[in-house]
Amino acid sequence: MEKHRCMICAKPGAFQGGICDLCKAKVRGEALQEQQQVKKDADRSLHKEGTAGESKHRG
Ligand SMILES: [Zn+2]
Repeated sequence: MEKHRCMICAKPGAFQGGICDLCKAKVRGEALQEQQQVKKDADRSLHKEGTAGESKHRG
């Protein structure tokens, strides 16, 4: 019984974790982007606090 297929692109074959190397790399890349997005968001919130304090001077 060879029912191994990539669960993303359905390419036949035995893959670790059920995902072929290509899709694995893709998924990993997307996960990386997500991490960067989180970092960016954290950065932005920091900036927000900074500008909030500055807006007081603008008055
Ligand atoms: Zn695949």
